[in-house]
Amino acid sequence: MVKNCRQCGKTFEGHARRLYCCDKCSRLFQVKLNKARIINKVTVTPEPVPEAAPRPLVNPDTIRMNEEAKKLGMSYGQYDAYLRSIKDREERERRKRGL
Ligand SMILES: [Zn+2]
Repeated sequence: MVKNCRQCGKTFEGHARRLYCCDKCSRLFQVKLNKARIINKVTVTPEPVPEAAPRPLVNPDTIRMNEEAKKLGMSYGQYDAYLRSIKDREERERRKRGL
């Protein structure tokens, strides 16, 4: 199969997949390609990173807990302490049963 060298343009006889007339042309073309890649890397500006959606100022769990506390006539802090005391009691009972 007669082909034209990708590097120097000379015609040569070779397989369909072969792109260059000789190893020297192959290496020269790869060097040229790598240089182009390096230049592209430097000149290509990175895409701007989209800004993350603003986070809610108050945690939704906090709002829910505050509402539950109001229903029981407690402040948020009292309700939080109350829930922790329940958790602690359960933990103590679980340990007692475990031992
Ligand atoms: Zn060539």
